[in-house]
Amino acid sequence: MARAAEDRHRDRRLAMVRRQIEGRGVCDPRVLEAMRTVPRHRFVARSLAGDAYKDYPLAISAGQTISQPYIVALMAEAAAIGPHDRVLEVGTGSGYGAAVLAELAASVISVERHRKLADAAGRVLAELGYTTATVVCSDGSQGHPPGAPYDAVVVTAAASRIPPALIDQLADGGRLVIPVGPPSFSQNLTLVTRKGDETFSKRFCPVRFVPLVEES
Ligand code: SAH
Repeated sequence: MARAAEDRHRDRRLAMVRRQIEGRGVCDPRVLEAMRTVPRHRFVARSLAGDAYKDYPLAISAGQTISQPYIVALMAEAAAIGPHDRVLEVGTGSGYGAAVLAELAASVISVERHRKLADAAGRVLAELGYTTATVVCSDGSQGHPPGAPYDAVVVTAAASRIPPALIDQLADGGRLVIPVGPPSFSQNLTLVTRKGDETFSKRFCPVRFVPLVEES
């Protein structure tokens, strides 16, 4: 019974990658494999598990959302994560994005401001054996200085401007992927690359995220 359910989720997951992700042009083989591997249905409420592989975001608790699968893949591809990279995620939410990043990187620190979400995500990640992903409950607009510098920073909440702390915590050659724009409208997914003390920005896709709360 449980086996049959897992097989059904797996079939849906493979179809999701083919149609929604490869079908829209994501082609990094490691990203595609990560998206085929992470059991997204484990990161949503049981009542939503049947919708976990559909082409849209889903509600999680605390009024937040788990991003659409395609956007998770697009951001991971843009961050160009290598197997030796140290990654910071801002906005753990369900923990799904952290699991995808953990499939790609050497280590992931994911920061979430809601204690309840941070605890739940940490639990699921541990149950699934993601020992290289660590969830921290704090204000991610300040990054997470103890783990810096990061080869990649992925922000999954909308910022009206790029928090300077996140640039400061990027390694030389590091990549920051962040939705930039007004919280109530659509934002531009933006890739910032650091080269020495210079940064280069490129906008590449309109998106819609919940706001990045800036507490300090
Ligand atoms: N990556 C998530 C989706 C996150 S939704 C997933 O895969 O499910 C955005 C998350 O960012 C929300 O959980 C929200 O609480 C969190 N967030 C918003 N502002 C934040 C901040 N300043 N620091 C840390 N987390 C923040």
